[in-house]
Amino acid sequence: MTFKDLGLAEPILRAVEAEGYTTPTPIQQQAIPILLKGKDLLGVAQTGTGKTAAFGIPILQHLYRSQNGQSGKRRIKALIVTPTRELAIQIGESITAYGKHTGLRNTVIFGGVKQGKQVSTLRNGVDILIATPGRLLDLMGQGFITFRDLEFVVLDEADQMLDMGFIHDIKKIIAKLPPKRQSLFFSATMPKTIVELSRKMLGDFERVTIKPEQATAEKVEQGVYFVSKKNKPKLLAHLLQERPNDSVLVFSRTKHGANKIVKKLSQADIRSAAIHGNKSQTARQKALGDFKDGKLRILIATDIAARGIDVEELSLVVNYDLPNVSETYVHRIGRTGRASASGIALSFCDKEERPYLRDIEKLIRQEVPRMPEHQFLDDGTEEETESDERPPRPPRSQNSRARNVNRSGNRNRSGNSNYRGGSSQNRNQNTRNKSRGRD
Ligand code: AMP
Repeated sequence: MTFKDLGLAEPILRAVEAEGYTTPTPIQQQAIPILLKGKDLLGVAQTGTGKTAAFGIPILQHLYRSQNGQSGKRRIKALIVTPTRELAIQIGESITAYGKHTGLRNTVIFGGVKQGKQVSTLRNGVDILIATPGRLLDLMGQGFITFRDLEFVVLDEADQMLDMGFIHDIKKIIAKLPPKRQSLFFSATMPKTIVELSRKMLGDFERVTIKPEQATAEKVEQGVYFVSKKNKPKLLAHLLQERPNDSVLVFSRTKHGANKIVKKLSQADIRSAAIHGNKSQTARQKALGDFKDGKLRILIATDIAARGIDVEELSLVVNYDLPNVSETYVHRIGRTGRASASGIALSFCDKEERPYLRDIEKLIRQEVPRMPEHQFLDDGTEEETESDERPPRPPRSQNSRARNVNRSGNRNRSGNSNYRGGSSQNRNQNTRNKSRGRD
């Protein structure tokens, strides 16, 4: 199937072609026809599947065709709500790219920056508004936004909205929307609260389920190092020195931890930058921009700041801390191995994190291959091994992926996973209730 087969308008086809897309992704193949028919949609899918184009293109197409030489101030006809600033900006960039020949205008609003510029853009009139919930409610409350002309609403990453405590804001926003509209609801997982919310928001809808985690767990080469907490910085520095040309995303569970990693790496003469909720918007955008452009090789991020970051050529993900929510592991390793590329995800596991590793392995239904013994071993043994001069074996390169043998001598082929990312039955619902904190 091609984009032309989907019956897209010429200016949109041209833009999609300029983006270098040749074939629609599965979610695009399934969702675009449903949306072009005017139906509501429940998409069980996460960022990385091509879902922005899946919802953005039909909206652009409809608005483009119904412009009819409109005059006067533009009114908001489509609203896209997404949990984080990074995702909002990324969606804004995509909509701008797909709609560049349509004459339609979009803008992005989010918190953490002064509202003046956002308000003046809104005053000038936009067709499509992309927003994070807090700033959206704020500007709605101040009377800068009305939805009288709204035709489309997209709720993106609904489960993350729930995790971040935005669910009440979302309900308030939905209550202010005109009842006659086309609604699109996206979530990577469907816990009960999210199912209930989707029922409230959607009318007569069709469902599309994409299972990126399954593909991810299969495509990404994984490994775990048992290491003491104290030795994690040394192991990280060692791995980074072993791979001087790789672009590496390092996950830290906390903001404070992310800053500490940057400091420790700098002591080893390794340059990195951190992104998390305590950093200013400018600092986050600069670090992310430098990372995407290849000017910065190592980015340290918390989960919320990193979710949805779309970086081509990301060769290595390091879980400096293992997440206590197993699904987060799958989201993290999904940052590498995107599209048809394959990637490597290495995790550091200290004694306290062993139970997290067990939970993760239960969820992905495979054992994460143990990396060979090294000089930065777990607490219990590090005294004996610290004097050991033997250098750790370097992590396997992409070329050696087939020779992945774990400690017990079993071959562990990631491709054997039975993990079904999109299925809620496989998920341990309890883990969803663990606090993730607001970034
Ligand atoms: P998304 O899930 O919307 O964040 O998209 C993930 C990545 O896939 C982005 O870098 C998009 O530019 C890219 N992408 C989206 N659709 C296609 C397509 N049909 N072919 C190739 N790349 C795509």
